[in-house]
Amino acid sequence: MSEPGGLESAGRPGRPGRPAAFLDRDGTIMVEREYLAEPGRVELIPGAVDGLRALQKAGFALVVVTNQSGIARGLYDRAAFDAVQRRLEELLAAQGILLDGVYLCPHHPDVDGPCDCRKPAPGLYRRAADQLGLDPARSLFIGDKLSDVQPAAGFGGTGVLVRTGYGAASALAHADPATVVLADLGSISGWLAASRPASCGPGPEASVAPGRVEPGVD
Ligand SMILES: [Mg+2]
Ligand SMILES: [Zn+2]
Repeated sequence: MSEPGGLESAGRPGRPGRPAAFLDRDGTIMVEREYLAEPGRVELIPGAVDGLRALQKAGFALVVVTNQSGIARGLYDRAAFDAVQRRLEELLAAQGILLDGVYLCPHHPDVDGPCDCRKPAPGLYRRAADQLGLDPARSLFIGDKLSDVQPAAGFGGTGVLVRTGYGAASALAHADPATVVLADLGSISGWLAASRPASCGPGPEASVAPGRVEPGVD
């Protein structure tokens, strides 16, 4: 018999949590440089800061969810990942952007066997939702690969494929019509404005301040 309110439940009935933008990192926020281990080579993708700011203003927690199989493959270690991540966060902080969380899978199935955290598995999203009080069903799953957007279906959220990084190829191959496809992360501000008109009927979030964009996305 499982414990009441099992630890595995990300959905917490009665405590829906805030919506998140679950963001892939490489190829989505910063330029894809395969197995990057040098902080000096971190470069923001043009428009990424604008996109992150728009998501933040719309009430989304900014949560990076990233597969880092280079660690399992022995191409770099956790300290090198942290150094690259710190550099990214410095560049973002200089533009007034703070991330709410960073979650990584350091595994690769050929090395470690299957894990529950390598995207598109739900493990990292569940952990983030539990630790940060997020509602995956009202969240965006954003990235340049299908494995970044596929988890949206399982959680009832919205997948947003960006055509930066590997996204051009991913977009060609993608078959799920529910996935939103954008040129880049910067394009999300326009999509947010278009997909959530201010005249939406009242919902649980109806008490937000006038002029603030509703965080819910259908
Ligand atoms: Mg990527
Ligand atoms: Zn993993």
